[in-house]
Amino acid sequence: MSAHPGLAEIERARAALMGRVRQTPARPSPGLARRLGAPVVLKHEHEQITGAFKLRGATNALANLTDAERARGVVTVSTGNHGRALAHAAREAGVRCVVAMSRLVPANKRDAIAALGAEIAIHGASQDEAQGEVDRRVAEERLVEIPPFDHPDVIAGQGTLGLEILDDVPDVAQVLIPLSGGGLAAGVAAAVKARRPRARVVGISMERGAAMHASLAAGRPVLVEEAQSLADSLGGGIGLENRHTLAMLRDLMDEVVLLTEDEIAAGMAFCHVAEGVVVEGGGAVGPAAILAGRIRPIGPTVALLTGANVDPAQHARIVSDPAILERLAR
Ligand SMILES: *Cc1c(COP(=O)(O)O)cnc(C)c1O
Repeated sequence: MSAHPGLAEIERARAALMGRVRQTPARPSPGLARRLGAPVVLKHEHEQITGAFKLRGATNALANLTDAERARGVVTVSTGNHGRALAHAAREAGVRCVVAMSRLVPANKRDAIAALGAEIAIHGASQDEAQGEVDRRVAEERLVEIPPFDHPDVIAGQGTLGLEILDDVPDVAQVLIPLSGGGLAAGVAAAVKARRPRARVVGISMERGAAMHASLAAGRPVLVEEAQSLADSLGGGIGLENRHTLAMLRDLMDEVVLLTEDEIAAGMAFCHVAEGVVVEGGGAVGPAAILAGRIRPIGPTVALLTGANVDPAQHARIVSDPAILERLAR
C-alpha cells in the first residue's frame, strides 16, 4: 500500500461502508446557480447519521482494525463531530470506545457522546491535558487511537463522498469543500481528480485560525491561534507531525478561500431560507463562498453541506437576523 490513500483505498472504503452510512442526496440549487452563473448542486451530507460526514472515516477506520485491535477498543479526544461519529461507529461494530475530554467541555456535549454508548474520560482543563489521557490509555490499556483526519483509513472513508459526487454529477467541474485538518478535502480530491483530473478542488475555511491555509503557504505545519468562529467544526490545528493531509493537499488542492464571520452567517441563513435545511457554520461555507462572490463560474459546481450539529439558539438567532437576511436579498 502506498503512503497516502488513493482511488483503490477509497473504492475499498466504499464497499466497507455499504449499509453502514447513508448515501446522501444531491440536489440542484437554482438560487446559487443564479448567483454563480453556472449549475450548482448541493450534496446534503449534513443528513448523514450523527449529523456529519465524519461517520464515513470513523466507520472505515474501524472496519480496517485487526481482530486483536477491535478487542482492545478505540480512543479519541474529539468532543465534536468526530467524537460523535467514532462513538456511533464503535457501538455499531461492537467495539469499546473511550472519548477523553477536559472538564471544561459543556455537559450537553458530554451527554450527547455518552448517549451514543462511549465511555467518557474527564481529564484536565484543556484539550492538551485530555490528549494526555488518550496517550496514557494507549500506553496502559493498549486502546487504538483513531484521529479525526490525519489517518489513511479516515481519509479514504471521507473520500467515498468524492465517488458519490462523481455518480451524482458526472460532468462536475469544481468541488467546494469545507476545510479544517483536511481529511475530507484530501479524500474527496483524491477520488475526484483520479477520475476527472481537470476538475478544480477549492477548500473553504474561516479567516480566523485557518491552520491548513497557513500551513500550505508555509510549506510545513504551522500553529495558528484558535479563535471563536461560527465555523467551530473548522477550528483546531493540523498537527505539527502531520503525515498525510498537508502533503496530499499540496498536490491536489487548487485554491483555498477564507471567509469572514458575516459571510459564514449568510451561508447558514441561505441554507435555511432558500434550501429549507439546518446546516452548521462549518457546513455552510460552500454556499457562503458563492454568495460572497468568491467562486469562479467555470462549470457544474458541487458544494458539500458537511454538518448539521449547531446550537439551536445560535441557529435561530442567525436565521432571523434582519442584517443577515438583507445580505441574501441582493
Ligand atoms: C470536521 C469537519 C469539517 C472539516 O473536515 P477536515 O477533514 O478536518 O478538513 C468540515 N465540516 C464539518 C461539519 C466537520 O465536522
